[in-house]
Amino acid sequence: MRIPNPPFNDKRYVLNTNTGVAHDLDNYCASCLIYNMNHDHVFASDYFYSEIKSHPAFKELCDHCMTPDG
Ligand SMILES: [Zn+2]
Repeated sequence: MRIPNPPFNDKRYVLNTNTGVAHDLDNYCASCLIYNMNHDHVFASDYFYSEIKSHPAFKELCDHCMTPDG
């Protein structure tokens, strides 16, 4: 479920630059607590490898929406 409002801007992936956890909004789970994120800590992108995984703040994938088994 993508979020059209800034700072999400309808992008697929969201990185919490405070915790370093990346989320996939197309596989969104309530446990992701996306709406609780401080907007100052949101980095949103459609490009997982080139912009999310390579972001200096990236640390890990969200257990709820980014697990390999989906
Ligand atoms: Zn998540």
